[in-house]
Amino acid sequence: MKKILVETSARHVHVTQEDLEILFGKGYQLTHKKDLSQPGQFASNERVTVVGAKKEIPNVSILGPVRSATQVELSLTDARSAGIQALVRESGDIAGTSGCKLVGPCGEVEIKEGVIAAKRHIHMTPADAKEFGVEDKQVVSVKVESNGRSLVFGDVVCRVSDQYALAMHIDTDEANACGGATEGEIIK
Ligand SMILES: [Zn+2]
Repeated sequence: MKKILVETSARHVHVTQEDLEILFGKGYQLTHKKDLSQPGQFASNERVTVVGAKKEIPNVSILGPVRSATQVELSLTDARSAGIQALVRESGDIAGTSGCKLVGPCGEVEIKEGVIAAKRHIHMTPADAKEFGVEDKQVVSVKVESNGRSLVFGDVVCRVSDQYALAMHIDTDEANACGGATEGEIIK
């Protein structure tokens, strides 16, 4: 079957325009550093410090564009060392998750919820979904091969939209666990 590009998402933050302005100043706009694989999504030049009960994590990059809710995506290793609980959730599903403090050059934001470890997922177009024989929200397994750390990831959510491009996203803990594999194959 067709192989899927596997990309590693490093820790990052999504912010609302309101929180961006508290962190960086009135009227501030994110500046573009590099495009991501998903159309319209980009890494910005802006960085914040994520503050947990035990430790601060400096230089966490903000991904754009701004969103309707501020969200912090950490690996479970990050979360443990910072002293923040991170539930495994799909992006955007933040009800009942932990909060933390974000510090920018102009101010601080205390978020009540929004810290997650992103549930591993595959972005795909409707045409891709048809080719793989899967539907939006379907959970599949993905086999990845690397030199010495090949494995099968279970609990991978398929996310289907014509706004997406085909790519699987894992975090840095997952990337390390599979030896940095860069492509995978769906197993149903
Ligand atoms: Zn993603």
